Amino acid sequence: MKIKQIRTRLVEWRGKTVPLPPHFCTNPMDVLSLPQASMQTFTFHGWLVVEIFTDNGLVGIGNAALAPPITKQVIDQYLKPLVIGADPWDIEFLWQHMYRKTMAFGRKGIGMAAISAIDIALWDILGKSAKQPVYRLLGGRTKPRIPVYASRLYSVALEELAAEARRYKNDGYKAMKLRFGWGPTDGAEGMQRNVALVRTVREAVGDGIDVMADAYMGWTLDYAKRMLPLLEPFNLRWLEEPVIPDDIHGYAELKSCKKIPIAGGEHEFTLYGFRELIEARAVDYIQFDTNRVGGISQARKIAALAEAYSIPVIPHAGQMHFPPVEVEVGNELFWYIFEGEPKAKDGFIDLDENLPGLGLTINEEALKKFGVNE
Ligand SMILES: [Mg+2]
Repeated sequence: MKIKQIRTRLVEWRGKTVPLPPHFCTNPMDVLSLPQASMQTFTFHGWLVVEIFTDNGLVGIGNAALAPPITKQVIDQYLKPLVIGADPWDIEFLWQHMYRKTMAFGRKGIGMAAISAIDIALWDILGKSAKQPVYRLLGGRTKPRIPVYASRLYSVALEELAAEARRYKNDGYKAMKLRFGWGPTDGAEGMQRNVALVRTVREAVGDGIDVMADAYMGWTLDYAKRMLPLLEPFNLRWLEEPVIPDDIHGYAELKSCKKIPIAGGEHEFTLYGFRELIEARAVDYIQFDTNRVGGISQARKIAALAEAYSIPVIPHAGQMHFPPVEVEVGNELFWYIFEGEPKAKDGFIDLDENLPGLGLTINEEALKKFGVNE
């Protein structure tokens, strides 16, 4: 089996989007106090759809949501020539080839998002070639169903937030994650507003539900250290991305406070990035994103490393935030573009053992609502 062609399509949402109110979600731009420093900076209304075609008629599907126009260029100009003509079963060699060839400018960020998209498409091909779901190539089922959490609960009016949290509980979720709305530039009053968000969700769902909270890189170490004691009474399962991803020492200091478990890693890349996080004792939970970290080939190595250190892995999936809603931040677009992803029911997803590969197809009909650039 040989790789014959690669197609990259940049798809950009042309439909309406829900405007994001101020303080919708803290983010790294907040500390700059720019008037436009809202969550708008971190919306993703485009997607890169990658298809790899083999000479025996298989098609592997991958995707990328980080800076899709540039990720497309990286694949088209740098990765495609390395991969065409190769045997997809040489997947580890291909990963190393892509990684080493782009070493000077790749490694993290867009370069690794591009490699991830190709790697995921290659795994899809391997599954289809073996007529097995990819999860079976990786070791198979370890539990009957996989627990998932509802990941939304942005910072909105408290009554609205409480209603949304109760809805997830009624839908059967045993865990849910909210976002903070205020950061270092909002002073002590903002801290109390953050506390009110957490209190609202905790009171809405009671003590029998795991509640997590995400600062999305929007805080500083000093601010986070002041927030920890205020948040401690609410028994958060974890505090996510309290500081920027490069502040590994900040993470480690927060973890050493032992007040709330610290989670991170959705903006970290490759086995080497996670080795640093782990060696620095920086996180209680690892949240790599397979679409960024280097694809399934890297994700499974990071999972193995985490296992050796007894650090739970609860992956980030930028591509499949639950539940599907109208287009706001942009993660929702995954549900518009692709079909076949398992849907959560009663707080779990179930994997289909009859779907070979990753089980995804592209909804070509839905793509008519997008601008498509090939
Ligand atoms: Mg997050």
